[in-house]
Amino acid sequence: MLQDLYQELIVDHGKNPRNFRPIEHARSCQHGNNPLCGDRIILYVQHDDVIISDIAFQGEGCAICMSSASLMTQVLKGKSLSDSKVLFQHFHDSVVSGVAVDGAKLGKLEALLGVSQYPTRVKCATLAWHTLVAALDGNNEVVCTE
Ligand code: ZN
Repeated sequence: MLQDLYQELIVDHGKNPRNFRPIEHARSCQHGNNPLCGDRIILYVQHDDVIISDIAFQGEGCAICMSSASLMTQVLKGKSLSDSKVLFQHFHDSVVSGVAVDGAKLGKLEALLGVSQYPTRVKCATLAWHTLVAALDGNNEVVCTE
């Protein structure tokens, strides 16, 4: 039952990604690539030194990549930079292991934990997040999951 709901959420966000737009004059802009699957995104993050005020993305990729990026932008808008990095770590570790790690508040992101059974899809699910960390760290090189 829960699996079905999660499946629907992924399909919905994959088909109709939220926050799918550029942000003009975004403070951070980062390209991310997952050559194994062909996923390519550009992530835009508007933030000051504390809070992410707006976050959006563009690009193309599989349903897992698109829905993960879409869900990520919904979850991170309004969050602090430090909370966002903690959430990245929790999400990453949870997706790799397939169960939410202790203390993780994943919410809708739990829909993606099923990809742990498919190691190549883990890279699809985490591409947006790796790209986010690079954007916040001010690393202007293309993020590659390879
Ligand atoms: Zn993919």
